[in-house]
Amino acid sequence: MRAKRSLGQNFLVDPNAQRRIVEALEASADDEVIEIGPGQGALTRHLAGTVRRLTLVELDDELAAALAAEYAGRGDVVVVHRDVLETDIASLLEDPARAKIVGNIPYNITTPILFHLLDARPRPERIVVMIQREVAERIIAAPGGKTYGALSVAIRAVADVERVMQVKRGAFRPAPDVDSTVIRIRPRVPVPLGAEEEHDLRELTRAAFGRRRKQLGTILRDAPEYALAPADIERIGGSVGVAPDRRPETIDPPTFVALARALRGIDRPRHLGASA
Ligand code: SAM
Repeated sequence: MRAKRSLGQNFLVDPNAQRRIVEALEASADDEVIEIGPGQGALTRHLAGTVRRLTLVELDDELAAALAAEYAGRGDVVVVHRDVLETDIASLLEDPARAKIVGNIPYNITTPILFHLLDARPRPERIVVMIQREVAERIIAAPGGKTYGALSVAIRAVADVERVMQVKRGAFRPAPDVDSTVIRIRPRVPVPLGAEEEHDLRELTRAAFGRRRKQLGTILRDAPEYALAPADIERIGGSVGVAPDRRPETIDPPTFVALARALRGIDRPRHLGASA
């Protein structure tokens, strides 16, 4: 079968890497697991039969049909032939809060998939994904550097993230143009932010990192959805403990969360109409 670039198909052929990704999930015989983009079954064959229920979500017609044929008649493996981004993750699971998710996910839709998984309620217990190395570095980055940004804050405000291993492009067929990293994401329990707070946090980081060379105070003054007066900037900065002359890339995820909460208290961000 020819790999389809449009579906981000780079198949992992290194058996050692396949095994280590599955081990990183730490799934036990009693667990429910969803695999995203199982493809030709590189991870699937290490997982099937070792967990209580394995659900495979694959968009490609041919691959989904081949998987359905391979696992036909097995009650413990279910093939869902669908776009993961249009799939209600929790609805596939008996006990969503205890579910584990694994996948070597298509690089072109990595961020939407991560947000889709983190938007699931309840959130899965653990997520192990192989993604483009550069995106993994952005997620894991410490404050202060160039790679630290909106993605780092959005994910780390609600989950702990660790790097599991690096995988060279030669481990795939066809080889992608980039190297990869496997990360493990453990969403925090209880959920640290409500859905609306999380939405506000994303707006704040988008406004802030869209102007990453500017100081926080200037951003909160100039961004139309905030448009704060100097007195409000001082007050908010004081209550959160962040000086208005700080640049976004020096502000850690918990401080962004506190800032978003304080801004919510004075009705920001404002929702501007199309004419604003
Ligand atoms: N897991 C296999 C492996 O490690 O060799 C395949 C990985 S390949 C990088 C990504 C897989 O995701 C492909 O099988 C592709 O068809 C599938 N895929 C792409 N977009 C998808 C989507 N929106 N929903 C579900 N699967 C998708």
